[in-house]
Amino acid sequence: MQVCQTNQQVSDLVSTWRLAGKSVAFVPTMGGLHQGHLSLVEQAKQQADNVIVSIFVNPTQFGENEDFEQYPNTLKEDLKQLEALQVAGVFTPDAQQMYPDGFSTNIKAGHLAEGLCGEKRPGYFDGVVQIVHRLFEIISPDIAIFGQKDYQQLLVIKQMVSEYSLPIKILSADIVREADGLAMSTRNQYLSAKERTEAAHLYRILVQLKQDVLSNKTVDSAILNAEQSLAKHFKIDYLSVLDANTLSATTDNTTKIAILCAVFLGSTRLIDNIIFHPKQTT
Ligand code: AMP
Repeated sequence: MQVCQTNQQVSDLVSTWRLAGKSVAFVPTMGGLHQGHLSLVEQAKQQADNVIVSIFVNPTQFGENEDFEQYPNTLKEDLKQLEALQVAGVFTPDAQQMYPDGFSTNIKAGHLAEGLCGEKRPGYFDGVVQIVHRLFEIISPDIAIFGQKDYQQLLVIKQMVSEYSLPIKILSADIVREADGLAMSTRNQYLSAKERTEAAHLYRILVQLKQDVLSNKTVDSAILNAEQSLAKHFKIDYLSVLDANTLSATTDNTTKIAILCAVFLGSTRLIDNIIFHPKQTT
């Protein structure tokens, strides 16, 4: 496994693979790797000859009062896990590599970034598309894999790739959960033991909301029920039931529904979602 710290090293590495006729799948991460990240790597291995993983905690996607300074750094452990999966390359740039002095080209997230996390974390998706576009430019993968855990991010990236006509296929991977249903996240490390137990209610309540929507309750009354349940355990940041393709209100033409939620447990922000098909009426 080759570990590259500079843009030059990683683009040289990918060039040698290209010369050897190898296809390349890319998994961008911020490190603090867990089984969710590793499932993306497993999927990447099935899709291409060589897999490259990036580890970079991107400062431009954190707001002023967010957790950039305390974001877990487990690089040594992360590299061990990637080595065990026989990843071909890892890219661990510093901020100077990603944003050299004077770097000023900025691309903006499209309209799918407007609500939900985009509204609650102003500038967040602009930071995400900026770093992903930069990494795509340097690595030029054939395929890149993102988790459904960050569902809005997945759509925003797909929109960027489509609107900038980037020759990269975007694939998504299912959410990997703990035994009690909590979606795995690097940020789960922030939870106290008591909070960690409490956190399991999030997925349970979203599953109930899905059942309510499928049993023909109105979306508004189903959301109201779920909000009352969530409020017993969390401070709700948002809870929405939307068309999963457009992130706008569901209509009779909706073919996929998204329940999307962000809550605070103490100072830790948890996000989760469930994507499902509406009940067939015929
Ligand atoms: P992050 O390091 O949090 O930026 O995440 C890197 C990638 O891993 C993103 O595409 C995430 O959506 C994905 N990811 C994070 N947690 C999970 C999970 N529990 N299951 C599947 N994918 C995940």
